[in-house]
Amino acid sequence: MKITQIETFAVDTGFKPTRPWLFCAIRTDEGVTGYSEFGCDGITRGLIGLVQDLGQRIVGRDPTAVEKHCVDLYRYARQAAYGATQMAIAGLELALWDIAAKALGVPVWRLQGGPHRETQRVYWSHCATYRVENWKLFGVKPLRTMADLADAAGQVAARGYTAFKTNIIWPGEPSRRITQGRTGPHDQLATRDIIKQAVAQIATMREAVGPDIDICLDVNVNFKPTEALRLARELEPYRLYWLEIDNQDPRALAQLRAAARTPICSGEQLLTVRQ
Ligand SMILES: [Mg+2]
Repeated sequence: MKITQIETFAVDTGFKPTRPWLFCAIRTDEGVTGYSEFGCDGITRGLIGLVQDLGQRIVGRDPTAVEKHCVDLYRYARQAAYGATQMAIAGLELALWDIAAKALGVPVWRLQGGPHRETQRVYWSHCATYRVENWKLFGVKPLRTMADLADAAGQVAARGYTAFKTNIIWPGEPSRRITQGRTGPHDQLATRDIIKQAVAQIATMREAVGPDIDICLDVNVNFKPTEALRLARELEPYRLYWLEIDNQDPRALAQLRAAARTPICSGEQLLTVRQ
């Protein structure tokens, strides 16, 4: 079997701000196609270009030699390692695993030594957050008041979840929120206004769901560790399941973890076992 074509797709999700989802299809001369999703908020054409540029290196090769291709692509592009380069390699890798599994007629997890578990607990991600800009798209009520935040949290148990994750939100007309890297304070300070609102929001949502639903708060890259620590301490009464913060410095994270009583979750920005 040989790889014949690398195809990429940018799919408009309807989200505001515009946020296309990116997919890759690797086609072969035996009619087997591997699919993957890849991407990064805010980088569309650049990532598609990287997948196409790197993908040309494996056209004509056996797609089932997945590990070899990943090592070769890493070596080829290591002058610009990690970041968007690694995201593109991951997009190719996932599609190659899909082909390798389909060629054998097994699920991908069989090739990874699975099953590791029979069930998986999940949480509702971006609970309430998606109502800030995209409430019309989802056909739900906008967040005008704190009662609307309570209403959003009230849906969690009704939909069968035992946990949810949210972001810091100000209800209003329009409502606003701190997510990803583009909406927080540029100096990464957790101002009085931010901490007051975070505490009011989590108190409201905790009150709405009761003591038995786990609550996670994701502040992404928006605060320095000292600021995240102040936030963590103010939120202690509401027993967060975790406070999520992205920071590339392991010493800063270790310091934060040692100083906060709230569990700290991190790492989604790190790429490959090397990081
Ligand atoms: Mg996160």
